[in-house]
Amino acid sequence: KVVTRFAPSPTGFLHIGGARTALFNWLYARHHGGEFLLRIEDTDRARSTQPAIDAIVTSLRWLELDWDGTEVYQSQRADRHAQVAHTMVEHGHAYRCYLTQDELAAMRAEADAAKKPLRVRSPYRDADTSAETRPFVVRLKAPLDGATTIEDKVQGSVTVQNAELDDLVLLRSDGTPTYMLAVVVDDHDMGVTHVIRGDDHLNNAFRQLPIIRAMHAIEGGWPDPVYAHIPLIHGSDGAKLSKRHGAVGVEYYRDELGVLPEALDNYLLRLGWGHGDDELISRDQAIEWFDLDGVGKSPSRFDLKKLENLNGQYIRQADDARLAALITPQLGFEPTDAQADILRRSMASLKPRAANLNELAAGTAFLFHVRPVEMHAEATALLSPDARALLARLHVALDATESWDTETLEAAVRQVAEDAGVKLGQVAQPLRAALTGRKTSPGIFDVLDLLGRDESLGRIADQMA
Ligand code: GLU
Repeated sequence: KVVTRFAPSPTGFLHIGGARTALFNWLYARHHGGEFLLRIEDTDRARSTQPAIDAIVTSLRWLELDWDGTEVYQSQRADRHAQVAHTMVEHGHAYRCYLTQDELAAMRAEADAAKKPLRVRSPYRDADTSAETRPFVVRLKAPLDGATTIEDKVQGSVTVQNAELDDLVLLRSDGTPTYMLAVVVDDHDMGVTHVIRGDDHLNNAFRQLPIIRAMHAIEGGWPDPVYAHIPLIHGSDGAKLSKRHGAVGVEYYRDELGVLPEALDNYLLRLGWGHGDDELISRDQAIEWFDLDGVGKSPSRFDLKKLENLNGQYIRQADDARLAALITPQLGFEPTDAQADILRRSMASLKPRAANLNELAAGTAFLFHVRPVEMHAEATALLSPDARALLARLHVALDATESWDTETLEAAVRQVAEDAGVKLGQVAQPLRAALTGRKTSPGIFDVLDLLGRDESLGRIADQMA
């Protein structure tokens, strides 16, 4: 069975790169009928915060990337990590190292002088330390020769000479586990079969595999995971996406840019993975089509325009009641049932014009203006004396209609234009100005319909000659 996981370090908001990693893991698990797990890597107690954990959880829920079971907190598993390190010592795959900070600094200085990276091979590696009482760290007895090859599902076959690997620290002198140890132990214990993560972790894989293989040699049941290291997301300038690019947190897209979650999911999916030329990909299609062979090897560039375009398309196909509910908090007041109904009915005519939810919300403002409607200068400019006279004729004609539906209203307005010998636009423009206080709005017959008879006639009366 396929088991994937998303393992964020809660040191800030959920970055869109992280969201994409989560999405790929989620899709891979769903595609293969497996499980997707969440592990909060909060071992760095100083940098991990509860607000960051909340932001990650909220953002994943918003993106509808549900995880199986309850999330695992890495910090709660320190005893288990230590236990594995001690097992490795017992079986000669790790050792107690008594090098002091000063001795390590001297080794580093020597390596620097020789312009070589420091590869710690501690003198305690093969020493008998049973009589020692000094403080120690536990180091991995890394393989000295040969090479380690990873058949990465995205990067292909990657080989590192073992001579380049450190005897890395597994447990610090205070007994706490290092990141390398914790990841490996947690992935094993959680039954993770596929490690899909950013390619900034590829180097770590070569440090983590020897730990896995040592444990496999000791007790069996620690198979190598399948690795897939996905290229990072770059900004439109080609540089690695960072805070410098501004909008990097998922919540920013939701709150500031008015993006629908399915639009962001679709956008992130297309960022680094492709299925022919398909742009608009539903969740069901994504689950059906997603696999790691579709993931490209080169970094993808973040393109805000594309995201906005997808968002507009998703808004147009979204359910009206849902859209209305999403923008209700932006109204600034609690709508009555009647207002909520108008809001929902307005979505059909407003959503084709809205690039994002914030624009959609702004577009509804005219519905709830209180008479007399505050006029924008550009709207007032449309209200010449002639125009105001036309409004008076419109008032008579509309007042006389038997029913208030777009067909009847359109016929009445056209008749007024014809009788006055002017084009429809010359009537529609002042009408729009009077009804909305703006120069632009949804179709004028939709506006009349949404506002209803009394409110429409009132607003016309406020501006007519
Ligand atoms: N906690 C690591 C990070 O946030 C991810 C570790 C992993 O995926 O193996 O970058």
